[in-house]
Parts: sequence; C-alpha cells; structure tokens
Amino acid sequence: MFELLSTDPNSKARRGRLTTAHGVIETPVFMPVGTQGTVKGVSPAELWDLKTQIILGNSYHLFLRPGLEIIRELGGLHGFSRWSGPILTDSGGFQVFSLAKLRKITDAGVQFQSHIDGASCFIGPREAMEIQATLGSDIAMLFDECPPYPCEKEYAANSLQRTLLWAKQCKEVPTPGAKFGIVQGATFADLRRESAEALVQMDFDGYAVGGVSVGEPEEEMLAAVEHSEPYLPAHKARYAMGLGTPPQMVEMIARGIDMFDCVLPTRVARTGTAYTAAGTVNLKNACHTRAKGPIEEGCTCPACREFSRAYIRHLVKSDEILGLRLVTLHNLHFYLNLMTQIREAITQGTFGSFRKTFVLGYGKSRETDDINPV
Ligand SMILES: [Zn+2]
Repeated sequence: MFELLSTDPNSKARRGRLTTAHGVIETPVFMPVGTQGTVKGVSPAELWDLKTQIILGNSYHLFLRPGLEIIRELGGLHGFSRWSGPILTDSGGFQVFSLAKLRKITDAGVQFQSHIDGASCFIGPREAMEIQATLGSDIAMLFDECPPYPCEKEYAANSLQRTLLWAKQCKEVPTPGAKFGIVQGATFADLRRESAEALVQMDFDGYAVGGVSVGEPEEEMLAAVEHSEPYLPAHKARYAMGLGTPPQMVEMIARGIDMFDCVLPTRVARTGTAYTAAGTVNLKNACHTRAKGPIEEGCTCPACREFSRAYIRHLVKSDEILGLRLVTLHNLHFYLNLMTQIREAITQGTFGSFRKTFVLGYGKSRETDDINPV
C-alpha cells in the first residue's frame, strides 16, 4: 500500500504514496484530528477545499459516544460523518491511559470507567480492532500501552512485552484496511530497537512511533524517532503519533517520518493563536486592533483571502464562533500547506535548504510562545 517515490540525498526525508480504499495519500502528510468524528468546527467540504488527504478518528471517544451500534447503522464513520476520504483511527489505547478513570491493566486488556458517565468498559486488543473495523477505518492502529513520561526502565520493558503480546492478537483480527504497528519503549534506545524489530518480524502494513508527545522534552522526542527509525523497513510508511509544532514536523521528516497528526492547529485556534512562517501570533493582542492585513501575507486560506486581522481579532475577543472557525481554517491550511511545500522540496531535491530556511525563520515573530503539543 506504500510506494517510496524518492529520498532526499542529504537527510532521511522521503516522498511517498499511500493507497487506501478511500483515496491516495501523498506523503509526507498531515492528518487533521477528528476526535469525535469531526475536525472541530470544520465541515467535510471545507476539509476538501483545504486539500486534506486523510483525517484521524478516535476509537475511544466514538466507542463511548455515540457507540458502535449507531455508527454501524449509519454506514460506519465514513457514512456517519460524510467524510468520504481516507480515515486513520487510533486504537483507543492512548485515551484509555490518559482519560479514563480507574484503570485495571492486565494481559487481556484494560478495564476502565468511562470519563463521560462512569460506565464500566473493557477494551483489549480484539475489541480495539473490532471497534476500528466497525468504524471502517482505512488504517487501523494496534492496541498498545503508552507508558507515561518519565518512566522507569523496568516498567517500560514490561509494558513493551504486553504491547508485543497484544500486537500478535491484533494481527489476527480482520479489519477492512491496513494495520500499523506502534513502536514503544519509552526513552530507552535498546527497548525501542527491540520493539521495532519484533513488530517488523510480525509484518504490518506500516509502523508508528508511539509514546512521544507525552510531556517529554524535544530532545527525547527526536531521540525516540532516531532510536526506532533505523529498524523500520524503507518500503513501509512511518507515522509519528501526536506531533508536533511546525519545526518539529520538519525535523521528524528529516529523520524519515512520513505521517503526522496533531491537535495543535485546531486547539490553539480556539484561543486565538494563529500559525505563520515566523511563528505563532496571538490575535487577542492589542497590536492587531487596527491591522488591515490578513493573518499572514500571501496566505491563500479562506480566512486570509477575505478578512483583516482586526476583524478576526474582534470576532475572537467577542467569542464569536466565526472567529474560531476562521483561525482554525487558517491553521489547518498552514499545516497542510507546509506538507505540500515539503513534498515539492523533496521532489526537487531542495529539502535541505527548505529545512534550514524554515526552521531559522520560524520563531522570528516576537509573539511566538513555546507551544508544545501536550
Ligand atoms: Zn490564512
């Protein structure tokens, strides 16, 4: 399902193509996050206009609400949400560990209480794959345990063994699309290698680096990728889960990553923060009160084509829904367009200079805050 088209001569950056039943995805790719079956505030038609290639859905959230029966009756997540392009779903593992209460983890799976109504639920490897099959996912992620940061080596090693046991069980459950294994091992290079090699032995359709973006410093995040990537086959897609800021994604691509998802562009939009090539800009700041220009000069997004910063600032300050939507559209466009530029740069053999210019330029905005995905 993955075709490696070209590789940058001076880094590990790759141009690739993923083929799914709902469409072809050019990589590197950014996947907007649709936690509850919707990318917050954005319709499927708008996602198409932004040239979104694939979105992410969350098994945990959709399993709890509205529940699988309803989604099955309404035609799976594609029919229910009316997004007809490719969908990647996470297995629910990350949310079970980060959101659910009263967890009991055994080799069979995780018993937990719903964070919505306290109902007692269970998700194990089989359940996680069955949920994703019902959703009709084009790319299903294996059920894994995501250890916290920081984490003792003994805990990380035991957790990894359980994740590998679950991986074998997940492989047996039929799903309509591809299955991606998730490399774990926390911050330990030897565990990362062990995890990657064991998963590759089981032969999945692609591989993710998991257990990143859990509160670790950026160096640890990059190290987790550097300690996993060398053991992953070149002819399969690689996905760094839950990342990142724009420069972090550029650096991950230089380290051989093809796919990203991150809540940042949509989440920070709802507080009036916009991405630009010079860094983030907070539209609530007084300096934008009379600004006639767009959020970013030259941006072709629906917000920048039409509206002034002053107007969008007014909407955001007044808690108007349109203001949050416009900043969301701009931020998604920024992330998606960054990937378009990177794909072109890799094809033309100019990724090295693009990387240098982008990373240096980002952060020039005096307003840039040190925003991390967590
Ligand atoms: Zn824009």
